[in-house]
Amino acid sequence: MSWKGGCLCGAVRYEARVSASDNWYCHCRMCQKSSGSAVSTSAIVPKARLHMIRGEPKFYQSSQFVERGFCADCGSPMFFRPTNEDWISILSGTLDDPELAPPEGHYGVESWVSWLRIEDDLKKERTEAGG
Ligand SMILES: [Zn+2]
Ligand SMILES: [Zn+2]
Repeated sequence: MSWKGGCLCGAVRYEARVSASDNWYCHCRMCQKSSGSAVSTSAIVPKARLHMIRGEPKFYQSSQFVERGFCADCGSPMFFRPTNEDWISILSGTLDDPELAPPEGHYGVESWVSWLRIEDDLKKERTEAGG
């Protein structure tokens, strides 16, 4: 399966060849700050399966082990990349078809804001190491 996506302005475009992904909501404070939203949604894929087809994101090192990728032209947050793992997470709003990556769980639930109502039975996990 080939997923395509990109930032708001189109300067950065990517393709991911995926057989499966691990999709999450993340409610942690760092994702809230970085995405500008109460919750972020992302799809985890192997680093080797993702490549840029136009432009390159810039990366901001948000903690000792995590870099967050964004478009330097329009500022769209796009990726979450641990430096010591072989996976990268794609912020699923940047997919051309976000329907491809329905979340399977909630992470960082200790920071879930009270006014955000998501009624589901998905698994819930607390943040262990922020990034
Ligand atoms: Zn852009
Ligand atoms: Zn997070």
